[in-house]
Amino acid sequence: MSEDIYNIEIQPDKDGNYNWQCFVCGAILVQKEKPDFCPFCSKEETYFIKIQTRQ
Ligand SMILES: [Zn+2]
Repeated sequence: MSEDIYNIEIQPDKDGNYNWQCFVCGAILVQKEKPDFCPFCSKEETYFIKIQTRQ
């Protein structure tokens, strides 16, 4: 049984921020809104996925 990581429910951290991972370069940005672009590899927001915060 495989889980689709795009469909799991992601909870924000205590400040309301999410972890956004660029799946081109693997950078993780912590902020509320989806990044407009990756500051490391300059890819657009479509390359970001929301990932679960490790508490
Ligand atoms: Zn990137």
